[in-house]
Amino acid sequence: MGEKRKIAVAPAIQVGGSLFTPEQLAVIGRVSDADAKIEVTSFKQWYLEIPAERVEVIKEELERAGLEVYPAGFVTKSLIACQFCKGAEEAGLETARRINQAIAGLETPTPLKVGYAGCALGTSEPLLKDIGIVKMRDTFDLYVGGEPKGLKASLAALLVAGLTEEELVPVLTKMIDHYKQHAKGKEKFSKFVNRISLERLKQIVC
Ligand code: SF4
Repeated sequence: MGEKRKIAVAPAIQVGGSLFTPEQLAVIGRVSDADAKIEVTSFKQWYLEIPAERVEVIKEELERAGLEVYPAGFVTKSLIACQFCKGAEEAGLETARRINQAIAGLETPTPLKVGYAGCALGTSEPLLKDIGIVKMRDTFDLYVGGEPKGLKASLAALLVAGLTEEELVPVLTKMIDHYKQHAKGKEKFSKFVNRISLERLKQIVC
């Protein structure tokens, strides 16, 4: 058996949420070996184990079918977005896509989950993510340090309210970069935020 590589696959960020088409599922089946492991993760990506020498060919085939392909492992996961039930414009679909393009797949000390909600109902549970973005009418509130696992689970705290669309991506990339540069080993993002404090983090990224 040859070397295997794990890749992460997700449908596009779209109105309606994480929707696969039958054709996309057929393509996933077609590019996978009969004994391939296909894992449904908790963060809306599917992990596929594929032959290492065919990664590029398979990636192209998946992308041709409208799927998005990301690295697996210690990276920022693709944006965990809501279903945009209030409509693409009101819920900020294009903003969500821009955020995803800027941050998904960036190498990080531990896997980083970023949630996006198109309104304060927050049905994508942004306060349970490392970073949560909530659209509030025409601006965005940014939460950090959510911890959904373990007996000490906790909600993310508000870092900054009222960011404009133009401010969002620079603030997010600065924050992820600061985490990469200053985390102690494989320090979890929530611990990192607690250690350096919300006030200090806000001064650094805003
Ligand atoms: S967060 Fe708001 S816009 Fe997004 S799916 Fe939930 S209710 Fe709809």
